[in-house]
Amino acid sequence: MDFSTPARAQRFLPEVSAFVRDELQPVELDVLRDGFTASAGRLRALRDKVKAMGYWAPHMPEELGGMQLGLVDHALMSEALGHSVLGHYVFGCPAPDAGNMEILHKFGSEAQKERWLAPLVAGEMRSCFSMTEPEHAGSNPTRMSCSARREGDHYVINGHKWFTTAADGSDFAIVMAVTDPQGDAYRQASMIIVPTNTPGFDLVRNIPIMGDAGEAWASHGEIQYRDVRVPVDNLLGQEHAAFAIAQERLGPGRIHHCMRWLGICERALDMMCRRAAERDMGEGKPLASKQIVQAWIAESRAAINASRLSVLQAAWKIENEGFYAAREEISLIKFFVAEVMMKVIDRAIQVHGALGITSDTILSWYYAHERGSRIYDGPDEVHKMVVARRMLKAYAKGGGK
Ligand SMILES: Cc1cc2nc3c(=O)[nH]c(=O)nc-3n(C[C@H](O)[C@H](O)[C@H](O)COP(=O)(O)OP(=O)(O)OC[C@H]3O[C@@H](n4cnc5c(N)ncnc54)[C@H](O)[C@@H]3O)c2cc1C
Repeated sequence: MDFSTPARAQRFLPEVSAFVRDELQPVELDVLRDGFTASAGRLRALRDKVKAMGYWAPHMPEELGGMQLGLVDHALMSEALGHSVLGHYVFGCPAPDAGNMEILHKFGSEAQKERWLAPLVAGEMRSCFSMTEPEHAGSNPTRMSCSARREGDHYVINGHKWFTTAADGSDFAIVMAVTDPQGDAYRQASMIIVPTNTPGFDLVRNIPIMGDAGEAWASHGEIQYRDVRVPVDNLLGQEHAAFAIAQERLGPGRIHHCMRWLGICERALDMMCRRAAERDMGEGKPLASKQIVQAWIAESRAAINASRLSVLQAAWKIENEGFYAAREEISLIKFFVAEVMMKVIDRAIQVHGALGITSDTILSWYYAHERGSRIYDGPDEVHKMVVARRMLKAYAKGGGK
């Protein structure tokens, strides 16, 4: 077993981490307060710096202008970027664009790649992914009302979606819609590219998350599709193959997310330690002298280290044995790391006292906006079920390990 950081990551991590610390952390509260639209100029300048440094779009092939990192290297990059809310955005790999780039690259036609993928990778366009519907349990996406009816050379899409992240200001959506209602449950839906300026595409609102609706990239849209007419050429991949494509999107996505969450954990733990060491509780004794705070710090450290090893092992297994072989590990890290992150953020807030729930530090933003980590890409309970069922298989009918 080799636990050393891969050679390529050893080269880029110090510079990337320094950039996140020196250029992104100092401005992120301003950007969140002013909004991504008002901060467009500032963000563009930061993106230009990243491009000049050669760290743009780490997950994309070099011929498209990316770094072409393998999954383990990208996992380590993702953790470093996770130390700022702006990290993935400024380095050209934010969700949901990153996942959309991956499926466009893998399943897109040459024309689709030219029209949508190239400008998306270049950061000249933004995109969103429109699957979940308010009327149906998103945990079971085989149940979907949004339909795409074939009329000659066009699809006519009707449906109601929500939690379409970053829809506000996006140039196009990749929409999941039923094209074969009589088909097998996992062969009913297709993925279709819909330019957001198509008549009938209606962004109803940005959904408030714990009171904050956000805007632009930092938002989650509710969308009505009313007789949205797009050419059949906008079909992504094969007809009725949306589920297979969605699985491709989720595999690496969970590694990216988990490592981003570890970046958040490290930041919150750093803030926790700093505050505990500085906060004078009287008679010259810092908060850090309290045993309960020491226990939180040590327990956080242990949980973060365990999480990192688990995620990197899952990434290694995907790279070496494929997604199918690693599906138990992927489910395991998805619920485990999300829970660890929420606990570490909560402890960091507690150590900061009242300051922790203000918008004067990043902690309250994390607390509100990262809570969704336990729900999206499969809620905790579904992943726990997947892991336990696979484990229990061996014990069925009196068997065992
Ligand atoms: C921040 C955020 C961003 C998102 N971005 C996108 C996006 O860009 N595009 C998109 O299409 N969707 C997006 N979603 C939606 C997300 O995919 C769904 O919220 C998710 O699939 C869960 O569906 P649901 O909300 O309908 O919950 P439901 O399916 O109604 O489930 C509710 C709860 O039931 C429990 N549960 C579910 N299944 C089981 C089970 N088998 N056993 C036990 N308990 C169970 C879980 O606790 C779950 O939280 C996003 C969601 C969030 C929170």
